Amino acid sequence: MRGRFAPSPSGALHLGHISTALLSWLQAHSMGGEWWLRMEDNDPQRSKSEHMHGIRRDLAWLGLHWDVEGPLQSDRHAAYAEALDVLTQQGLVFACQCTRKDMEEAVRASDQSWGSYPGTCLHAHLAMDGPYALRLHHSEDAFVLRRADGAWAYQLAVVVDDQAQNITHVLRGQDLVNSQASQTLLHQKLGGAPPKFNHAPLWLGPDGVRLSKRHHARSVQDYRLAGWSPNALLGHVACALGYLPEPTPCVPKDLLPSFVAHPLRQRAIAPSEVLPLWV
Ligand SMILES: [Zn+2]
Repeated sequence: MRGRFAPSPSGALHLGHISTALLSWLQAHSMGGEWWLRMEDNDPQRSKSEHMHGIRRDLAWLGLHWDVEGPLQSDRHAAYAEALDVLTQQGLVFACQCTRKDMEEAVRASDQSWGSYPGTCLHAHLAMDGPYALRLHHSEDAFVLRRADGAWAYQLAVVVDDQAQNITHVLRGQDLVNSQASQTLLHQKLGGAPPKFNHAPLWLGPDGVRLSKRHHARSVQDYRLAGWSPNALLGHVACALGYLPEPTPCVPKDLLPSFVAHPLRQRAIAPSEVLPLWV
């Protein structure tokens, strides 16, 4: 068994990340497996090395130690190109010049639900080495594999990395639940078995929307500077997840028996449930 935590180094870790990292750590350790850390820096504009340092520092402070750090996605271009070749040889890839606006208009005009591909470029036979996005041709939802600017899409990079690193269990946020079908398909087309997927509850901001940088959510670093101990912070997170009756300080391994005994919480966590973390 091998699990992983795969943050994008585009910002600092907040409560949602801590919660997902803790759950993935608990899953790996409850199964006697390995827990990997992987920096998903496939978006060159948003990824910063200072965030990578911050993520490693914060996980270590919380006692969420990883067994292996996988290679950076920015060092994996050759592997992604190879996977793209495998898909191209199966006739599964086409070039697409639609902008996001084109896509939205086409979808609206045809009265389809957002997310489905209107098929505009499917038979246009645009050059595969031109300045176009490359999409997987499999159903109405032809998702992007490589962006027009040459950056590798999240879906392809994740699947290629999970296969190369023999990841057997993926536990990540509910916000990624919709990518499970696409990623399962990619695993199959690339000749591997998909991992077992689980999705952790989201943490909401005061507006009821998934916690993000937009909320100026306190980062792990903010809690540390405010005098919080890692054990106290983990106690509140574990209590919200249903693994402790009261938010008493704890270290990750204290939670293993409770993690094994309880199903994964699915309902999102509102600020009112964890008030001390918001004052
Ligand atoms: Zn198109």
